[in-house]
Amino acid sequence: SEELIHQSEKLSAVGQLAAGIAHEIRNPLTSLKGFLQLIEFNQGGKQEYYDIMKSEFSRIEQILNELLILSKPQKMDKVPTSIVNLMDHTVTLLQTQAIIKNIQIKKDIQAEDAMVECAEHQIKQVFVNLIKNAIEATDDGGEINVLIRAINQEVTVEVVDTGCGIPKEKLKRIGEPFFTTKNKGTGLGLMVTFQIIEEHGGTVEVDSIEGEGTTFKIKLPLYES
Ligand code: ADP
Ligand code: MG
Repeated sequence: SEELIHQSEKLSAVGQLAAGIAHEIRNPLTSLKGFLQLIEFNQGGKQEYYDIMKSEFSRIEQILNELLILSKPQKMDKVPTSIVNLMDHTVTLLQTQAIIKNIQIKKDIQAEDAMVECAEHQIKQVFVNLIKNAIEATDDGGEINVLIRAINQEVTVEVVDTGCGIPKEKLKRIGEPFFTTKNKGTGLGLMVTFQIIEEHGGTVEVDSIEGEGTTFKIKLPLYES
């Protein structure tokens, strides 16, 4: 398995720039979207054009939202949080997406009480990113397994899929800003994920075999009261 150690300096410089740009773009975008809605409401015209414009707006918004996660203050309030609760919420959040593809998300939890000192929303974002990727990589009718363990002062969260896998030459590139193999991907999910986990003193490992599946393994320091 490959440990993904990222040069935090490089990454946070890119992150800060990206977040700054995202911030600047958001206001004019909101204004444009408002006027588009007004025009659509008032004048007819080709519905098809409005639909294209709206879907392009949504795409820009999606990119900006992911970039803006990086602009949150570096030192976020970290509080002892139940990792199992966070995961339960995340799975519930993504259940509709899984159901559409008839994918089952199975949880295997052997650390019911495990606590981690963390910024709740950020760790939730990490779980969302990993499970979303797993759903997107998995064929209809497939299965995703989420494992939570607490071993040696560490909480381990694994997201295991039996999806398309990541070819070796692409494995090196995941987490690079804007690296995506998807038509509608942003290529920002894993970059944000690595950044957040590093910020929490944890590590991310990935095991992937093309055509067989992928496992993302997150380790975070266990909080002991
Ligand atoms: P996005 O999902 O927007 O493409 P990510 O940063 O989340 O961006 O992922 C980057 C790329 O890593 C994806 O486009 C995909 O090629 C690959 N990837 C990530 N997770 C998985 C997975 N579970 N299975 C297969 N490929 C994956
Ligand atoms: Mg993604």
